[in-house]
Amino acid sequence: MTIPFVDIAIIGGGPGGLALAQGLKKNGIDAAVFERDPVRADYVQGFRMRIRQRGIDALKANLPTHLFDAFIDTLGLAPTENLVLDEQFNRIDGAGNGSGEPEDTHIEKSVSRITLRQILLSGLDGIFHPGKCFERYENLRDGTVVAHFADGTAVRASLLVGADGAGSKVRRQLLPELGSIDTGVRRLAGKITLEDAARYGISPLLTDFNTHIRPRDGRTLMITSHRVDPAAYARHGLIGAEDPGHRDIPGFHFNNTTSYAWWNTAYEAGELGPDEVLEHLDGAALLDALLARIARWDERILKLIRHTDPSTVAFLKVKSSTPGAVWQTGPVTLLGDAIHAMTYFRALGGNTALYDTGLLVPELVAARRQGKPLLAAVQDYENAMRDHGYEAVRSSLSAMQRNIGAGRPLKAEAAPQRFREHT
Ligand SMILES: Cc1cc2nc3c(=O)[nH]c(=O)nc-3n(C[C@H](O)[C@H](O)[C@H](O)COP(=O)(O)OP(=O)(O)OC[C@H]3O[C@@H](n4cnc5c(N)ncnc54)[C@H](O)[C@@H]3O)c2cc1C
Repeated sequence: MTIPFVDIAIIGGGPGGLALAQGLKKNGIDAAVFERDPVRADYVQGFRMRIRQRGIDALKANLPTHLFDAFIDTLGLAPTENLVLDEQFNRIDGAGNGSGEPEDTHIEKSVSRITLRQILLSGLDGIFHPGKCFERYENLRDGTVVAHFADGTAVRASLLVGADGAGSKVRRQLLPELGSIDTGVRRLAGKITLEDAARYGISPLLTDFNTHIRPRDGRTLMITSHRVDPAAYARHGLIGAEDPGHRDIPGFHFNNTTSYAWWNTAYEAGELGPDEVLEHLDGAALLDALLARIARWDERILKLIRHTDPSTVAFLKVKSSTPGAVWQTGPVTLLGDAIHAMTYFRALGGNTALYDTGLLVPELVAARRQGKPLLAAVQDYENAMRDHGYEAVRSSLSAMQRNIGAGRPLKAEAAPQRFREHT
């Protein structure tokens, strides 16, 4: 069975793909999103995402007013003040956050990924097609492109946009030489509800600030919080509080209506244990591994880790893309993590994916409303996207280097030369 022709076919319904679909719909451009998974339940989906001005601007441009208002109203709050402590709970004055952040941090703006998805999916009936796993594309002689899906269906389009994330199959076909890089950095994170934090007597210094535990010897632990107001959800009938798709998943991880504190920490590969072991540990065992590593830290910090909900803890290999790829413009392009996946340090990946949509939509409007040739529009998008996206990748890599240990070389195996040049 073949799906009817669509002008712009988008592969992937993450923040990038969905925001693009919203922007095209808003401008009356024919588009469809093809998403592999009916429910988004990957680990990171249970967390909030820090949203920056560039992401907010793109959402404002792409969303209809009522959805942008819903986005603003349902934003979570993170603390605005930073605090730096050593591992014995002594305040380190004057340390600041030392990250040289630019103006647009909006450090207090924290969006639940579950809520953001609910907003971005609103009004996309007939445009969003879940259960469609993209396999490959085929360029036709007339300049159009056909996307083939695992279920045997296919769709022909004027433009295929790969917004299918870091492991993008669209990118693998378009730019087969461009792989993902294991940075050699490993991350652990976890959450505790603010209710539990109060019940267990966790110090407010760990729940009411963006607190950096900076040990004299060891790795930094970052703690912050995400506060939600369920009444704000209720004001927007279309935005369900909990995602029904998460109903059968046990534990607190995908709860979307409870305020929580959360922490994350990063180590070099092998420091906490071999990858092959850590990858197979459950949340409780990962907490034990971390507690063993920081056993001499102040009890007030250890208590937070000990009472973390194990369902919210997972081990993550930090990956990046290699910035710099350039290709000849054609009827297939890329957006978001599919072309510039980056480490989570600096909280830029999702914002950059959204920013891309703010670049691509006006170009496609120019192509469809003002007679700009489609390929010229796509090329202008790609040039702007590359400038901005590759800079974000480099910046997130240097932030990771700073965090993990002042200039120590990474243990990344077989990192391409270009990667080394930029770190
Ligand atoms: C630990 C961590 C913390 C982070 N924190 C932040 C933060 O605070 N702020 C921030 O801006 N960014 C953050 N990021 C980065 C952010 O999550 C990503 O950059 C963002 O999700 C990218 O959006 P995207 O739409 O490009 O891709 P994705 O979100 O990866 O979405 C891709 C979509 O494509 C679908 N897909 C994949 N393959 C196929 C296929 N073959 N066929 C059809 N569909 C397919 C997937 O199911 C998915 O829905 C963080 C990342 C991590 C790992």
